Amino acid sequence: MTDARRCITASAPRSPHAHLIQSAIARHVFVSNGSRLFDADPDLFEALDSAITDGSVDDLLEQVGLGGAPAIDDQPLTAPPLHALSLAIAQKCNLGCTYCYAQQGEFGGDAKNMSQDTANRAVDLLVAGAEPGARLNLAFLGGEPLVNRTVLQAATRRGAELARERGLTMTFSITSNGTLLTEADADFFEEFGFAVTISLDGPRETHNALRMYKSGQGSFDRIMSNLQPLFARQRRMQVSARVTVTPGNVQLKRTLDEFIAAGFHSVGFSPMLSAPNGNGEMQAGDLELMLGAMIECGHEFERKTAAGERYPFANMVNAMREIEKGTHRPYPCGAGAGYLGVSADGDLAACHRFVGDEAGAMGSLGDGIDLKARADWLADRHVHRQEPCRSCWARYLCGGGCHHEVIKRGRPACDYIRGWLHYCLEAYLRMGPQGAAARS
Ligand code: SF4
Ligand code: SF4
Repeated sequence: MTDARRCITASAPRSPHAHLIQSAIARHVFVSNGSRLFDADPDLFEALDSAITDGSVDDLLEQVGLGGAPAIDDQPLTAPPLHALSLAIAQKCNLGCTYCYAQQGEFGGDAKNMSQDTANRAVDLLVAGAEPGARLNLAFLGGEPLVNRTVLQAATRRGAELARERGLTMTFSITSNGTLLTEADADFFEEFGFAVTISLDGPRETHNALRMYKSGQGSFDRIMSNLQPLFARQRRMQVSARVTVTPGNVQLKRTLDEFIAAGFHSVGFSPMLSAPNGNGEMQAGDLELMLGAMIECGHEFERKTAAGERYPFANMVNAMREIEKGTHRPYPCGAGAGYLGVSADGDLAACHRFVGDEAGAMGSLGDGIDLKARADWLADRHVHRQEPCRSCWARYLCGGGCHHEVIKRGRPACDYIRGWLHYCLEAYLRMGPQGAAARS
Protein backbone atom coordinates (compact mmCIF):
# COMPACT_ATOMS: atom_id res chain seq x y z
CA MET A 1 0.00 0.00 0.00
CA THR A 2 1.32 3.47 -0.81
CA ASP A 3 1.91 6.01 1.97
CA ALA A 4 -0.93 8.12 0.60
CA ARG A 5 -3.45 5.25 0.56
CA ARG A 6 -2.38 4.16 4.04
CA CYS A 7 -2.90 7.68 5.42
CA ILE A 8 -6.27 8.09 3.66
CA THR A 9 -7.45 4.75 5.01
CA ALA A 10 -6.16 5.37 8.54
CA SER A 11 -7.70 8.86 8.68
CA ALA A 12 -11.22 8.01 7.48
CA PRO A 13 -13.68 9.70 9.87
CA ARG A 14 -15.07 7.26 12.43
CA SER A 15 -15.97 9.68 15.22
CA PRO A 16 -16.34 13.45 15.60
CA HIS A 17 -14.65 13.20 19.01
CA ALA A 18 -11.41 11.28 18.56
CA HIS A 19 -8.93 9.88 16.08
CA LEU A 20 -6.56 7.01 16.82
CA ILE A 21 -2.95 6.87 15.65
CA GLN A 22 -0.94 3.67 15.90
CA SER A 23 2.74 3.31 15.06
CA ALA A 24 5.02 0.27 15.28
CA ILE A 25 6.09 1.30 18.77
CA ALA A 26 3.32 3.38 20.33
CA ARG A 27 -0.38 4.31 20.32
CA HIS A 28 -1.95 7.72 20.58
CA VAL A 29 -5.32 9.46 20.58
CA PHE A 30 -6.05 12.83 19.01
CA VAL A 31 -8.95 14.45 20.88
CA SER A 32 -10.84 16.79 18.56
CA ASN A 33 -12.05 19.07 21.36
CA GLY A 34 -9.09 21.42 21.75
CA SER A 35 -7.00 19.48 19.15
CA ARG A 36 -5.07 17.62 21.88
CA LEU A 37 -2.76 14.66 21.38
CA PHE A 38 -2.19 12.01 24.08
CA ASP A 39 -0.31 8.74 24.47
CA ALA A 40 -2.56 5.74 25.07
CA ASP A 41 -1.51 2.45 26.64
CA PRO A 42 -2.64 -0.70 24.79
CA ASP A 43 -5.69 -1.23 27.05
CA LEU A 44 -6.92 2.35 26.70
CA PHE A 45 -6.27 2.29 22.97
CA GLU A 46 -8.33 -0.86 22.57
CA ALA A 47 -11.14 0.56 24.72
CA LEU A 48 -11.17 3.77 22.69
CA ASP A 49 -11.27 1.77 19.46
CA SER A 50 -14.33 -0.17 20.68
CA ALA A 51 -16.01 2.97 22.00
CA ILE A 52 -15.48 4.72 18.65
CA THR A 53 -17.17 1.77 16.96
CA ASP A 54 -20.17 1.76 19.28
CA GLY A 55 -20.48 5.56 19.50
CA SER A 56 -19.64 5.92 23.20
CA VAL A 57 -16.17 7.40 22.91
CA ASP A 58 -17.27 10.82 24.20
CA ASP A 59 -18.28 9.19 27.52
CA LEU A 60 -15.08 7.19 27.72
CA LEU A 61 -12.93 10.29 27.11
CA GLU A 62 -14.79 11.96 29.98
CA GLN A 63 -14.24 8.95 32.26
CA VAL A 64 -10.50 8.82 31.63
CA GLY A 65 -10.01 12.56 32.14
CA LEU A 66 -9.63 13.53 28.48
CA GLY A 67 -13.04 15.21 28.21
CA GLY A 68 -13.87 18.76 29.18
CA ALA A 69 -16.05 21.69 28.15
CA PRO A 70 -16.16 22.33 24.40
CA ALA A 71 -13.26 24.58 23.39
CA ILE A 72 -15.39 25.84 20.47
CA ASP A 73 -19.06 26.57 21.01
CA ASP A 74 -21.81 27.17 18.43
CA GLN A 75 -21.63 30.95 18.71
CA PRO A 76 -20.32 32.73 15.63
CA LEU A 77 -17.55 35.26 16.01
CA THR A 78 -19.05 38.70 16.66
CA ALA A 79 -17.58 42.03 15.50
CA PRO A 80 -14.00 40.82 15.00
CA PRO A 81 -11.57 43.74 14.73
CA LEU A 82 -10.21 44.26 11.23
CA HIS A 83 -6.52 43.39 11.17
CA ALA A 84 -5.77 42.61 7.53
CA LEU A 85 -6.85 43.98 4.18
CA SER A 86 -5.83 42.84 0.72
CA LEU A 87 -6.03 45.35 -2.08
CA ALA A 88 -6.77 44.16 -5.62
CA ILE A 89 -4.57 47.03 -6.64
CA ALA A 90 -4.52 46.00 -10.31
CA GLN A 91 -7.39 43.97 -11.72
CA LYS A 92 -5.35 43.19 -14.79
CA CYS A 93 -2.48 40.82 -15.51
CA ASN A 94 0.21 40.27 -18.10
CA LEU A 95 0.04 36.48 -17.84
CA GLY A 96 -2.66 34.11 -19.04
CA CYS A 97 -2.43 31.22 -16.54
CA THR A 98 -4.58 28.30 -17.54
CA TYR A 99 -6.59 28.07 -14.28
CA CYS A 100 -6.59 31.68 -12.93
CA TYR A 101 -9.25 32.25 -10.24
CA ALA A 102 -9.21 35.95 -11.12
CA GLN A 103 -9.91 35.21 -14.80
CA GLN A 104 -6.63 36.69 -16.06
CA GLY A 105 -6.76 39.27 -13.28
CA GLU A 106 -10.00 40.92 -14.30
CA PHE A 107 -12.41 38.92 -12.09
CA GLY A 108 -14.85 38.64 -14.99
CA GLY A 109 -15.10 42.47 -15.45
CA ASP A 110 -13.05 45.20 -17.15
CA ALA A 111 -9.31 45.49 -16.64
CA LYS A 112 -8.64 48.31 -14.19
CA ASN A 113 -6.21 49.77 -11.68
CA MET A 114 -7.12 50.89 -8.17
CA SER A 115 -6.89 54.68 -7.84
CA GLN A 116 -4.68 56.36 -5.28
CA ASP A 117 -7.73 57.73 -3.53
CA THR A 118 -9.29 54.26 -3.18
CA ALA A 119 -6.01 52.78 -1.89
CA ASN A 120 -5.70 55.61 0.65
CA ARG A 121 -9.23 55.07 1.91
CA ALA A 122 -8.53 51.34 2.27
CA VAL A 123 -5.42 52.04 4.34
CA ASP A 124 -7.41 54.48 6.47
CA LEU A 125 -10.11 51.86 7.09
CA LEU A 126 -7.49 49.36 8.24
CA VAL A 127 -5.92 51.81 10.66
CA ALA A 128 -9.14 53.51 11.83
CA GLY A 129 -10.50 50.87 14.17
CA ALA A 130 -7.19 49.42 15.39
CA GLU A 131 -6.48 49.30 19.12
CA PRO A 132 -3.14 50.81 20.21
CA GLY A 133 -0.40 48.21 19.77
CA ALA A 134 -2.41 46.21 17.21
CA ARG A 135 -0.59 44.26 14.53
CA LEU A 136 -2.01 44.87 11.05
CA ASN A 137 -1.24 43.50 7.60
CA LEU A 138 -1.70 45.27 4.30
CA ALA A 139 -1.53 42.88 1.35
CA PHE A 140 -1.32 43.64 -2.36
CA LEU A 141 -2.81 41.22 -4.83
CA GLY A 142 -4.23 41.37 -8.31
CA GLY A 143 -4.24 40.50 -11.13
CA GLU A 144 -0.59 41.42 -11.02
CA PRO A 145 -0.11 44.14 -8.39
CA LEU A 146 3.11 45.50 -9.90
CA VAL A 147 1.09 46.71 -12.91
CA ASN A 148 0.06 49.52 -10.52
CA ARG A 149 3.39 50.07 -8.76
CA THR A 150 3.01 53.79 -8.07
CA VAL A 151 -0.21 53.34 -6.10
CA LEU A 152 1.20 50.29 -4.30
CA GLN A 153 4.24 52.24 -3.12
CA ALA A 154 2.23 55.26 -2.02
CA ALA A 155 -0.24 53.07 -0.09
CA THR A 156 2.67 51.30 1.63
CA ARG A 157 4.22 54.60 2.69
CA ARG A 158 0.89 55.89 3.94
CA GLY A 159 0.28 52.68 5.91
CA ALA A 160 3.75 52.76 7.48
CA GLU A 161 3.39 56.42 8.42
CA LEU A 162 -0.10 56.10 9.93
CA ALA A 163 0.98 53.02 11.85
CA ARG A 164 3.99 54.84 13.25
CA GLU A 165 1.89 57.84 14.28
CA ARG A 166 -0.63 55.66 16.10
CA GLY A 167 1.70 53.16 17.73
CA LEU A 168 0.58 50.23 15.54
CA THR A 169 2.65 47.58 13.82
CA MET A 170 1.92 47.25 10.13
CA THR A 171 3.38 44.44 8.05
CA PHE A 172 3.18 44.28 4.27
CA SER A 173 2.80 41.45 1.82
CA ILE A 174 2.50 41.02 -1.91
CA THR A 175 1.61 38.09 -4.13
CA SER A 176 3.15 38.56 -7.55
CA ASN A 177 3.78 36.56 -10.68
CA GLY A 178 7.35 37.89 -10.59
CA THR A 179 7.54 38.95 -14.24
CA LEU A 180 7.63 42.72 -13.60
CA LEU A 181 9.95 42.79 -10.58
CA THR A 182 12.87 45.23 -10.77
CA GLU A 183 15.95 45.93 -8.69
CA ALA A 184 14.21 49.04 -7.32
CA ASP A 185 11.29 46.83 -6.19
CA ALA A 186 13.79 44.69 -4.30
CA ASP A 187 15.06 47.78 -2.47
CA PHE A 188 11.52 48.92 -1.72
CA PHE A 189 10.36 45.53 -0.41
CA GLU A 190 13.46 45.20 1.73
CA GLU A 191 12.98 48.70 3.17
CA PHE A 192 9.43 47.89 4.27
CA GLY A 193 10.09 44.24 5.22
CA PHE A 194 7.59 42.75 2.75
CA ALA A 195 6.56 39.11 2.75
CA VAL A 196 6.87 38.52 -0.99
CA THR A 197 5.07 35.48 -2.39
CA ILE A 198 5.86 34.47 -5.94
CA SER A 199 3.46 32.21 -7.81
CA LEU A 200 5.59 29.58 -9.49
CA ASP A 201 4.30 26.21 -10.55
CA GLY A 202 7.40 24.06 -10.80
CA PRO A 203 10.70 23.73 -12.64
CA ARG A 204 11.04 25.59 -15.96
CA GLU A 205 9.18 23.30 -18.36
CA THR A 206 6.36 22.58 -15.91
CA HIS A 207 5.89 26.21 -14.93
CA ASN A 208 5.96 27.37 -18.56
CA ALA A 209 3.18 24.98 -19.53
CA LEU A 210 0.89 26.42 -16.81
CA ARG A 211 1.88 30.05 -16.38
CA MET A 212 2.59 31.71 -19.70
CA TYR A 213 2.34 35.20 -21.13
CA LYS A 214 -0.83 35.91 -23.07
CA SER A 215 1.34 35.39 -26.20
CA GLY A 216 1.87 31.78 -25.08
CA GLN A 217 5.54 32.33 -24.24
CA GLY A 218 6.78 30.81 -20.96
CA SER A 219 7.60 33.12 -18.03
CA PHE A 220 10.05 31.05 -15.93
CA ASP A 221 13.41 32.44 -17.06
CA ARG A 222 12.31 36.05 -16.74
CA ILE A 223 10.95 35.45 -13.22
CA MET A 224 14.07 33.67 -11.97
CA SER A 225 16.28 36.39 -13.37
CA ASN A 226 14.08 39.12 -11.81
CA LEU A 227 14.25 37.39 -8.43
CA GLN A 228 18.04 37.54 -8.06
CA PRO A 229 18.14 41.08 -6.53
CA LEU A 230 15.40 40.03 -4.07
CA PHE A 231 17.26 36.89 -3.02
CA ALA A 232 20.44 38.95 -2.60
CA ARG A 233 18.72 41.52 -0.36
CA GLN A 234 16.31 39.45 1.72
CA ARG A 235 16.89 40.26 5.38
CA ARG A 236 13.73 42.04 6.56
CA MET A 237 11.99 40.89 3.38
CA GLN A 238 11.14 37.21 2.96
CA VAL A 239 10.66 35.76 -0.51
CA SER A 240 8.52 32.62 -0.70
CA ALA A 241 7.24 30.49 -3.54
CA ARG A 242 3.66 29.34 -3.73
CA VAL A 243 2.96 26.45 -6.03
CA THR A 244 -0.59 25.83 -7.23
CA VAL A 245 -0.79 22.09 -7.79
CA THR A 246 -2.76 20.81 -10.79
CA PRO A 247 -2.66 17.37 -12.42
CA GLY A 248 0.22 18.71 -14.56
CA ASN A 249 2.75 19.47 -11.79
CA VAL A 250 2.49 16.85 -9.06
CA GLN A 251 6.29 16.22 -8.95
CA LEU A 252 6.56 18.22 -5.74
CA LYS A 253 9.88 16.99 -4.31
CA ARG A 254 11.91 18.15 -7.31
CA THR A 255 10.13 21.50 -7.25
CA LEU A 256 10.72 21.92 -3.53
CA ASP A 257 14.41 21.06 -3.74
CA GLU A 258 15.02 23.30 -6.76
CA PHE A 259 13.22 26.26 -5.21
CA ILE A 260 14.97 25.94 -1.84
CA ALA A 261 18.31 25.75 -3.66
CA ALA A 262 17.38 28.83 -5.69
CA GLY A 263 17.10 30.92 -2.51
CA PHE A 264 13.43 31.01 -1.52
CA HIS A 265 12.83 31.57 2.18
CA SER A 266 10.03 28.97 2.08
CA VAL A 267 8.00 26.96 -0.42
CA GLY A 268 4.35 25.94 -0.08
CA PHE A 269 1.90 23.89 -2.13
CA SER A 270 -1.88 24.29 -2.57
CA PRO A 271 -4.09 22.02 -4.64
CA MET A 272 -6.17 23.69 -7.36
CA LEU A 273 -9.68 22.83 -6.24
CA SER A 274 -11.80 25.37 -8.06
CA ALA A 275 -11.10 27.33 -11.24
CA PRO A 276 -13.70 29.52 -13.00
CA ASN A 277 -13.28 27.45 -16.18
CA GLY A 278 -12.66 24.13 -14.41
CA ASN A 279 -9.13 23.95 -15.92
CA GLY A 280 -6.59 22.17 -13.77
CA GLU A 281 -9.01 21.21 -10.99
CA MET A 282 -7.76 18.26 -8.98
CA GLN A 283 -9.89 15.13 -8.88
CA ALA A 284 -9.74 12.37 -6.24
CA GLY A 285 -6.98 10.39 -8.03
CA ASP A 286 -4.88 13.55 -8.52
CA LEU A 287 -5.25 14.47 -4.86
CA GLU A 288 -4.08 11.02 -3.80
CA LEU A 289 -1.00 11.42 -6.02
CA MET A 290 -0.43 14.85 -4.51
CA LEU A 291 -0.75 13.46 -1.00
CA GLY A 292 1.94 10.88 -1.83
CA ALA A 293 4.20 13.67 -3.12
CA MET A 294 3.53 15.81 -0.01
CA ILE A 295 4.42 12.88 2.24
CA GLU A 296 7.63 12.33 0.25
CA CYS A 297 8.54 15.98 0.92
CA GLY A 298 7.53 15.50 4.57
CA HIS A 299 9.90 12.53 4.97
CA GLU A 300 12.72 14.70 3.63
CA PHE A 301 11.74 17.41 6.14
CA GLU A 302 11.95 14.81 8.93
CA ARG A 303 15.39 13.63 7.76
CA LYS A 304 16.83 17.12 7.32
CA THR A 305 15.40 18.40 10.61
CA ALA A 306 16.84 15.41 12.48
CA ALA A 307 20.22 16.24 10.92
CA GLY A 308 19.92 19.86 12.08
CA GLU A 309 19.46 21.20 8.53
CA ARG A 310 16.91 23.79 7.47
CA TYR A 311 14.30 22.54 4.98
CA PRO A 312 11.64 25.24 4.59
CA PHE A 313 8.69 23.15 3.37
CA ALA A 314 6.00 25.62 4.46
CA ASN A 315 3.05 23.18 4.69
CA MET A 316 5.00 20.94 7.06
CA VAL A 317 6.46 23.76 9.15
CA ASN A 318 2.96 25.23 9.61
CA ALA A 319 1.40 21.87 10.43
CA MET A 320 4.06 21.12 13.07
CA ARG A 321 3.45 24.50 14.73
CA GLU A 322 -0.33 24.10 14.70
CA ILE A 323 -0.19 20.60 16.19
CA GLU A 324 2.23 21.83 18.86
CA LYS A 325 -0.08 24.75 19.71
CA GLY A 326 -3.21 22.59 19.60
CA THR A 327 -4.80 24.95 17.08
CA HIS A 328 -8.57 24.75 17.25
CA ARG A 329 -10.66 27.15 15.24
CA PRO A 330 -14.25 27.49 14.07
CA TYR A 331 -13.22 28.89 10.64
CA PRO A 332 -10.48 27.92 8.18
CA CYS A 333 -9.11 31.47 7.89
CA GLY A 334 -9.89 35.07 8.73
CA ALA A 335 -11.92 35.74 5.56
CA GLY A 336 -15.02 37.81 6.32
CA ALA A 337 -13.80 38.28 9.89
CA GLY A 338 -10.54 40.08 10.67
CA TYR A 339 -9.56 39.92 7.00
CA LEU A 340 -11.30 41.52 4.01
CA GLY A 341 -10.48 42.08 0.35
CA VAL A 342 -10.91 45.40 -1.46
CA SER A 343 -11.67 45.59 -5.19
CA ALA A 344 -10.08 48.17 -7.48
CA ASP A 345 -13.40 50.06 -7.29
CA GLY A 346 -13.43 50.06 -3.48
CA ASP A 347 -15.96 47.30 -2.86
CA LEU A 348 -15.28 45.10 0.17
CA ALA A 349 -15.29 41.30 -0.09
CA ALA A 350 -14.78 38.38 2.30
CA CYS A 351 -11.27 37.91 0.87
CA HIS A 352 -9.19 38.42 -2.27
CA ARG A 353 -10.89 35.50 -4.04
CA PHE A 354 -14.37 36.95 -3.50
CA VAL A 355 -13.57 40.27 -5.23
CA GLY A 356 -16.42 40.97 -7.66
CA ASP A 357 -18.46 38.03 -6.31
CA GLU A 358 -21.84 38.64 -4.66
CA ALA A 359 -21.35 35.50 -2.55
CA GLY A 360 -18.72 37.30 -0.48
CA ALA A 361 -19.86 40.97 -0.74
CA MET A 362 -19.15 42.87 2.51
CA GLY A 363 -19.97 46.53 1.76
CA SER A 364 -17.69 49.20 0.36
CA LEU A 365 -15.13 51.78 1.39
CA GLY A 366 -17.78 54.45 0.84
CA ASP A 367 -20.53 52.82 2.93
CA GLY A 368 -18.32 50.93 5.38
CA ILE A 369 -18.33 47.22 6.26
CA ASP A 370 -21.79 45.70 5.74
CA LEU A 371 -22.24 44.49 9.32
CA LYS A 372 -25.28 42.34 8.55
CA ALA A 373 -23.55 40.61 5.63
CA ARG A 374 -20.54 39.96 7.86
CA ALA A 375 -22.64 38.64 10.74
CA ASP A 376 -24.60 36.36 8.36
CA TRP A 377 -21.36 35.11 6.83
CA LEU A 378 -19.82 34.32 10.22
CA ALA A 379 -22.98 32.53 11.35
CA ASP A 380 -23.32 30.50 8.12
CA ARG A 381 -19.63 29.65 7.76
CA HIS A 382 -19.02 28.38 11.34
CA VAL A 383 -17.62 24.85 11.11
CA HIS A 384 -20.46 23.54 13.29
CA ARG A 385 -22.86 24.57 10.50
CA GLN A 386 -20.90 22.68 7.80
CA GLU A 387 -21.58 19.17 6.56
CA PRO A 388 -19.89 16.74 6.75
CA CYS A 389 -17.48 18.72 8.97
CA ARG A 390 -19.65 18.32 12.08
CA SER A 391 -18.80 14.63 12.14
CA CYS A 392 -15.13 14.96 11.13
CA TRP A 393 -12.36 14.47 13.72
CA ALA A 394 -10.15 17.02 11.91
CA ARG A 395 -12.65 19.90 11.95
CA TYR A 396 -10.87 22.24 14.36
CA LEU A 397 -7.47 21.84 12.67
CA CYS A 398 -9.01 22.21 9.20
CA GLY A 399 -11.74 24.74 9.98
CA GLY A 400 -14.00 23.39 7.22
CA GLY A 401 -11.95 24.15 4.10
CA CYS A 402 -11.43 27.37 2.09
CA HIS A 403 -14.81 29.14 1.91
CA HIS A 404 -14.31 30.06 -1.73
CA GLU A 405 -13.54 26.52 -2.83
CA VAL A 406 -16.36 25.09 -0.72
CA ILE A 407 -18.93 27.56 -2.07
CA LYS A 408 -17.80 27.03 -5.67
CA ARG A 409 -17.08 23.30 -5.68
CA GLY A 410 -18.00 21.66 -2.40
CA ARG A 411 -15.56 19.52 -0.44
CA PRO A 412 -13.74 17.20 -2.86
CA ALA A 413 -10.49 17.21 -0.87
CA CYS A 414 -11.44 15.88 2.57
CA ASP A 415 -9.58 12.58 2.16
CA TYR A 416 -6.52 14.56 1.11
CA ILE A 417 -6.83 17.00 4.04
CA ARG A 418 -7.34 14.26 6.66
CA GLY A 419 -4.65 12.05 5.11
CA TRP A 420 -2.15 14.92 5.25
CA LEU A 421 -3.07 15.79 8.85
CA HIS A 422 -2.76 12.12 9.85
CA TYR A 423 0.73 11.98 8.35
CA CYS A 424 1.65 15.27 10.08
CA LEU A 425 0.42 13.96 13.45
CA GLU A 426 2.54 10.82 12.97
CA ALA A 427 5.56 12.95 11.98
CA TYR A 428 5.03 15.23 14.99
CA LEU A 429 4.99 12.19 17.28
CA ARG A 430 8.21 10.92 15.68
CA MET A 431 9.98 14.28 15.82
CA GLY A 432 8.78 15.74 19.09
CA PRO A 433 9.43 19.42 19.82
CA GLN A 434 12.28 19.45 17.28
CA GLY A 435 9.71 19.35 14.47
CA ALA A 436 7.72 22.25 15.86
CA ALA A 437 10.89 24.28 16.37
CA ALA A 438 11.90 24.00 12.70
CA ARG A 439 11.81 27.41 11.06
CA SER A 440 10.48 28.25 7.64
S1 SF4 B 1 -13.58 20.24 5.09
FE1 SF4 B 1 -12.11 19.70 6.70
S2 SF4 B 1 -13.35 19.57 8.58
FE2 SF4 B 1 -14.77 19.50 6.85
S3 SF4 B 1 -15.10 17.28 6.50
FE3 SF4 B 1 -13.45 17.99 5.14
S4 SF4 B 1 -11.54 17.57 6.25
FE4 SF4 B 1 -13.22 17.50 7.74
S1 SF4 C 1 -11.63 31.88 1.89
FE1 SF4 C 1 -10.04 30.64 0.94
S2 SF4 C 1 -8.91 32.04 -0.43
FE2 SF4 C 1 -10.11 33.31 1.01
S3 SF4 C 1 -8.66 33.73 2.70
FE3 SF4 C 1 -9.85 31.89 3.26
S4 SF4 C 1 -8.59 30.15 2.59
FE4 SF4 C 1 -7.83 32.01 1.54
